[in-house]
Parts: sequence; structure tokens; C-alpha cells
Amino acid sequence: MEKVILVRYAEIHLKGLNRPFFERLLVSRIKQALNPVQASVEREQGRIFVYGIPEEQIAECTDKLCRVFGIHSVSVAVCVEKSWEAVREAAIKEVRPVAETAECLTFKCFARRSDKRFPMTSEQICRELGHELLEAYPNLQVDVHHPALPVTVEIRQSSAFVFTGEILGAGGMPVGSNGKAMLLISGGIDSPVAGYMIAKRGVMLDAVHFYSYPYTSERARDKVIELTKIVSRYAGRIHLYLVPFTEIQMAIYDRCPSTETTVLMRRLMMKIAERIAKDNGSQALITGESIGQVASQTIESLCVTDDAVNMPVFRPLIGFDKEEIVEKAEKIGTFETSILPYEDCCTVFVPKHPVTKPKLDKLRESEALVDFEPMIQKAISETECMDIG
Ligand code: ATP
Ligand code: MG
Repeated sequence: MEKVILVRYAEIHLKGLNRPFFERLLVSRIKQALNPVQASVEREQGRIFVYGIPEEQIAECTDKLCRVFGIHSVSVAVCVEKSWEAVREAAIKEVRPVAETAECLTFKCFARRSDKRFPMTSEQICRELGHELLEAYPNLQVDVHHPALPVTVEIRQSSAFVFTGEILGAGGMPVGSNGKAMLLISGGIDSPVAGYMIAKRGVMLDAVHFYSYPYTSERARDKVIELTKIVSRYAGRIHLYLVPFTEIQMAIYDRCPSTETTVLMRRLMMKIAERIAKDNGSQALITGESIGQVASQTIESLCVTDDAVNMPVFRPLIGFDKEEIVEKAEKIGTFETSILPYEDCCTVFVPKHPVTKPKLDKLRESEALVDFEPMIQKAISETECMDIG
């Protein structure tokens, strides 16, 4: 009896005429996620079936699929011929490991028959199978409201499928269905979560990180690479641009008013990020800012930051509390890496008394004290690009 992974998709069904495009994209994302396992991935009547995974790799592959955006849920099913005998035998076998380890287990049968040539109705399948399972395992009990073990039979055109339970996927839309954006990634907790959230909406990611040797260390840089890798487990391949920022940072620090250094630094980061984004096909910038979290994230500061660029800036965490962000970071697996205590260039040069209500005109004036253009060009020309994921 062959095991297959049955994939239910998330919002794709809403997309009307675009549906084939979304489905094809999801199929290719699934193949990429499973690589190097060569599975055959097939679309059939609003579902995707993944065949040909060696049994010992099913659990690992299921895990990978649960990180693919666009997938609502997956079930590991056995695929059998369309006969009542085969369905019965498969269901009894599938339930055995759970039934044998539980003292008492509630269950309910579900059946769906899209191939109407099958001689039993869905109702008959459920009823008969219920009897068979009760007979095979005396510790089983039917509970139609809250069954611990749902046992599902689907009779489709190709074959019959039997499975117990459903594992929730990441939801969202397949990456690449909604353009590309550039994530400003620091080593902190927030920006990887911000990237995850935008990628979940189908947006492909590039990422940019600013570092300030020798004030920030090699380990801080490695941490960002590691965080990008974790995000890429969901978002697929990410080009990570590593921008040397020391010269610009020192110029701000030496020649601009000390209360404004953080906001000026943010403006320059945004400008550089926007240029790299434009050159590489990204249509928006993404940051991990949320209102009021620090001085550079008051509404006034955010407005002054926005003024530095023309591209839209997505801030998916804007209304989140820190605890909510931490919870999300833990869930997606970035938290442990984010809290490693390596310095970020933003934290190395924090002014003692940062402005919390910067005035745009004043900030523009301060920025004009230095001719940043040659420094920006040099930083971009010395930027290193890595392929992650
Ligand atoms: P995070 O936890 O993401 O570091 P934060 O709360 O520490 O955020 P800031 O340090 O003010 O806040 O940074 C705000 C946003 O600016 C970050 O979420 C990130 O998008 C961007 N950012 C900060 N530092 C860098 C950096 N060194 N390189 C790239 N982007 C950065
Ligand atoms: Mg930070």
C-alpha cells in the first residue's frame, strides 16, 4: 500500500481565473521544498497529491510541506484500489498503531466519494467502516462531535485514499504569486518575523543587512546569515545583500547632531536598501518596526524614515506588542538565534538622548551637512551578495 501526502491548499481557491497559475506555482514550490527527494506532484480536482516518497522520509517531507505557503493542511494517506475490501483493510491497518497504544479511543468515520461509480454511498462507507473498526478494536468508541481520531476515506477518480487526521500547514499564498520585496534584516527578533509575514502573502524576498566592521563582529554577520536561512525554509531562495556601513555610520556620528544619529542612520539604510531593491526587481521594502517600540519607531520617526524613500515600506508588525512578536518568532524558529547576544550596528551607536519627535525639515538639514552620495555608491559597490536557501 503506497503512502501519499495529500495537500489541501489555502486561499488559492478564491482566485478565480488565476487559479491554474496559483496551482502550478504551488506545485513548483512543493517540489522545491522536497528537493532532493524526487517526488511526483500531481494536481487533481482541487487537491495536490505527492507520490513516490520513500516511506522512511514521509515524516520529514510532511514537515517540509507544512512550511510551504499556500498549503492549508496535509494528510498522510494510503492509496489503494477502489474496492471496499481494499478500503476496509487499509483503514484497519492505519488505525492499528493508535488503537493499540490507547486504552480508550474515540473516533468518527468521514467519507467523500467524487467517483460516483463506486457502489457504496458516502454514508454507507462511514457506517460499514465504523462497524468494522469497532469489531477490530474493542477499545474504540464512536464520538460524532469531538472524535480524537477522524478516519477519512476519499474515493476519487484515480484511487481510494484512507487517512487519519490532518496536520495544519502554514497557510498564506505560494511565494512568487505576489511580486518581490526587500527585507531589511538585522540580527534582532523583529525583522525575521516581518519577512516571514510578508512572504506568507506570496511575496518573494530579497534581504539586505548593514554591518559595521570592526564595531560589529563576524559572529553578528553569521547570525544574520543563519536567520536568513531559517526564513528561507518558508520563503524559498533569498538573495542576501551584505552592505558595509561603517563609513556612513562614522560620518553620521562625527558630523551630525548626536540626538539624531539613529533616525539618520535609518534614513540612509532605507535609501541604500531602495537602490538595491530597484536594481534587483523588488517593489517594496520591509522592516520589523512597530509603533512606539523604541525612539526610532514613534510615528514621527517612522514618517521621517519613510520620507527617505519613494518605495512603499511594509511594516507587518506595526500593531504588534513585543510579546506577540516573540511568540511568532518562537513558532517559526527564529527566536533562539535572534537572542544570541551579538551586537547590531544600530545598537553600537545608540545616542544617549535620541529625539523621539524628529522634525522632517531639521532632519533633512542635518543630513545635508554631509555629502553622503559618494559613500552610498561606495557601500553599494562593496556590497556582497549571497544566495541563501
Ligand atoms: P529588530 O528586532 O528587527 O532588530 P528592533 O526592534 O531592534 O528590530 P531597530 O533596531 O530600530 O528595531 O530596527 C528597526 C528595523 O530596521 C528592523 O526591524 C530592521 O528591519 C531594520 N534594521 C535595523 N538594523 C538593521 C541592519 N543592521 N541591517 C538591516 N536592517 C536593519
Ligand atoms: Mg535591531
